[in-house]
Amino acid sequence: MKAHHGMYIGGEWRLAAGADTIEVVNPVDEQVIGRVPAGTAADVGHAVRAARAALPGWAATPPTERAAKLAALRDVLVARKDEIAETVTAELGSPLPFSQAVHAGVPILVAGSYAELAATYAFEEKVGNSTVYHEPVGVVGAITPWNYPLHQIVAKAAPALAAGCTVVLKPAEDTPLTAQLFAEAVAEADLPAGVFNLVTGLGPVAGQALAEHPDVDLVSFTGSTAVGRRIGATAGAAVKRVALELGGKSANVILPSADLAKAVNVGVANVMSNSGQTCSAWTRMLVHTSQYEEAVGLAAAAATKYGDRIGPVVSAKQRSRVRSYIEKGVAEGARLVVGGPESPREQGYFISPTVFADVTPDMTIAQEEIFGPVLSIIRYEDEEEAVRIANGTVYGLAGAVWAAEEAEAVAFARRLDTGQVDINGGRFNPLAPFGGYKQSGVGRELGSHGLTEYLQTKSFQF
Ligand code: NAP
Ligand code: MG
Repeated sequence: MKAHHGMYIGGEWRLAAGADTIEVVNPVDEQVIGRVPAGTAADVGHAVRAARAALPGWAATPPTERAAKLAALRDVLVARKDEIAETVTAELGSPLPFSQAVHAGVPILVAGSYAELAATYAFEEKVGNSTVYHEPVGVVGAITPWNYPLHQIVAKAAPALAAGCTVVLKPAEDTPLTAQLFAEAVAEADLPAGVFNLVTGLGPVAGQALAEHPDVDLVSFTGSTAVGRRIGATAGAAVKRVALELGGKSANVILPSADLAKAVNVGVANVMSNSGQTCSAWTRMLVHTSQYEEAVGLAAAAATKYGDRIGPVVSAKQRSRVRSYIEKGVAEGARLVVGGPESPREQGYFISPTVFADVTPDMTIAQEEIFGPVLSIIRYEDEEEAVRIANGTVYGLAGAVWAAEEAEAVAFARRLDTGQVDINGGRFNPLAPFGGYKQSGVGRELGSHGLTEYLQTKSFQF
């Protein structure tokens, strides 16, 4: 993948209005691997105009034809799977097998699911004496983070395009090459000019210009709570639709009847994968007091095994952020079992898999999103306390419950204030709605619920 000097706007790569560039750094060896243009408000303006111009035609394209284009896009992603994985590995640092299976594999599934949904969804329905049309909301401004570079893009662009919306994307500054590769795929799949546009650039410049642009109808943002709050306020003031996916502090609740070793091992793997940079990661493990020390021992062994198999975090900034959380955990009295703030290697933004025991629910490491390979193990005395602790953060994105009987786990999970729960290690489902309760966000992504985010209804009465 070679970096483009331009932005993909109106179906062509055009030079940015300004001359500034962003360096893309490989987090494994800290070498600069490319440069992309740092877009400004002027570029965002061009892109929004292109998206607006393309909207009437794309919105009027029959859903089956939009489905065919999305299927073509999926096929291009399949054909370029290896290149996608290599690009994500180069700019995010994740080990290649994980990039192949997840960073390339999941977006292919999701793109395919929207090709199918576009073809089968009831965009028109009868309700009594009315006909209800589900119409595209309009021009979408999508702002994405770096943690799953292609998935985050596809989880917004695919449903938006399936709905008949047009898109302007501002991807994360740390992972713009994957975004450029996606724009190449859009071109190769022969989507009409202007239905998808890419403006690389910095969040407070290009991102903010996109979020504030008066001709954007819907802003879909994934990232930090601090930025999400501002984007929500801006959208509210302009009375425009907004979707926010703001991360979490999810609980992995191991009930006493569960298979402890399995629950702990899967739980540790969940936190360490992608170097802990997963908004839905189960970063708090809740264990009954009678099994607590056994669970801590199992978690320590599992995390140690991960040792050199995880990649670095994305940037020096994220590494120092994660380190300061680890230091805070120690300072607040948690017991460091494995790992710690010291760098395990001389080069690269690596953090050792870290496990804390004796974490109490009010500690900073039990409340705030760390976004690194750091697990906190918390003790509970009874089920009531487990519910209270699990629900005791501002977040509510995901979680897990383990018990001997599925019914016991389900009964507990129904009491959790969270958008997704994996029961006894349930598998990822790309059609299940993904999104948060409480401050984890507004709106849902994936499947038909993700599609309806980009639709608005018009009803005719007869
Ligand atoms: P972030 O700043 O919120 O980045 C998310 C996206 O928003 C990026 O494209 C970013 O651009 C853009 N952005 C930044 N400031 C903006 C603004 N004022 N207006 C519009 N867009 C703006 O997150 P981060 O700094 O990369 O990560 C910080 C923390 O956020 C992480 O440690 C983690 O806790 C959380 N996070 C959550 C998720 C999630 O999936 N929910 C993903 C990533 C991070 P730039 O790339 O130029 O900053
Ligand atoms: Mg940022």
